[in-house]
Amino acid sequence: MKLKLSKYVMVIPIPAFRDKPDADRLLFSTRTGKIMRISSHFLALLQEGAFLQLPDKLVAILLNMEILVPDEEAETDFIITRNLVRAADERDQSLTIPLRAPAKGEEFCYTSLQQDITQALAAMPPSSVKGFKYTVRLLLVVPHPMEWDWLPGLDAWLRSWQPPVKTQFILQTLAINEGCIELIIPRLQSVILNKLYVVFSHTQQPSGLTSALQSLLQQMQAPGGPTPAILHGVFLAGAGDWERWTPDLVDTLRVLSAQRNVHLEFITEEQEEPLLHFLTVNQVKSNWLPAPQHRYYRAAMEDSMQRTDLGWDAEDIRYMLSRASLEAGRVYYDTDHVKRLSNTTSPCRDCLYLPLCGGHADKLAMGIEDCPLFVRQLSARVAAGAGLSLR
Ligand code: SF4
Repeated sequence: MKLKLSKYVMVIPIPAFRDKPDADRLLFSTRTGKIMRISSHFLALLQEGAFLQLPDKLVAILLNMEILVPDEEAETDFIITRNLVRAADERDQSLTIPLRAPAKGEEFCYTSLQQDITQALAAMPPSSVKGFKYTVRLLLVVPHPMEWDWLPGLDAWLRSWQPPVKTQFILQTLAINEGCIELIIPRLQSVILNKLYVVFSHTQQPSGLTSALQSLLQQMQAPGGPTPAILHGVFLAGAGDWERWTPDLVDTLRVLSAQRNVHLEFITEEQEEPLLHFLTVNQVKSNWLPAPQHRYYRAAMEDSMQRTDLGWDAEDIRYMLSRASLEAGRVYYDTDHVKRLSNTTSPCRDCLYLPLCGGHADKLAMGIEDCPLFVRQLSARVAAGAGLSLR
């Protein structure tokens, strides 16, 4: 097979060797979000197209990362089509149902949940529900305050209910922590994936943040959980907040970030580089790169946000959803979006970041003002993602 170098590859200097022309470099594929380190010798061969002179093992890695791609491939169309197919698969094989947490003293309404799921399944084309397990994503936007004692009852109901087609459940919980709610990681036996997103406000005091994180850490480490939970912590950081973080808080972040099922993401409106540097120096692992796959929770989250009884300012969720680097907020590659992207003079189709970003169908101007924040610091984010010090 004849190969070519993908146009969706960034060559990034390693910060510590920035001024050394013969030093190794990082290669970052915006198609797959994968990073590798490469010597200047092999990089030169790659850029010259001398692929036959590269070791077989390296070629295999480059193919896997989609840095080398088939020569005849029309890359942009391929990526858009692939994401459209994935989106269609996900749409046809799964649905998201917002859960309504009962108020204090109320019973959870199983009848209404059963009706919601049954109606949604009944509306599916038969081809979608034959031969596969259908996936129902239960989306719980945690109100403030919330009672958690109804969850075991929901778990028991999900285990006993016989849906009309083979169905598996995912629980997707979103909570805002401003120090005023106790965060419980739901322990459900009936779900195949239990994902908890927690957004930590920058207004929270370091001591309150430390105890909230320590509680989550204990729950993550507690033995015997039926379905391993995945915790995605999102920290909104104000200007220089991290300089006020106590050693206890930094230690807790370091330990938490080292857990297999924990992903931490830090978002700041300020200069990111000092925060990136602080985290790498303190060995806090953090996620700075958007996932190359695109998820479809946003509409259901926005539905949930319409509710007036959530008890906190829904602006916080809007803020989070506006951050395109966050997996939960991604909503790209539906057919409508792609049509609009194709029919405009948007620069997105020719953009190096398109596979990660998904494009902005209504992008009006050249320049980066209306691009997602992550593209402005992508090189530094890639270096941080590779665990390298930025200075
Ligand atoms: S919105 Fe910006 S970063 Fe995203 S594809 Fe368009 S031009 Fe590129």
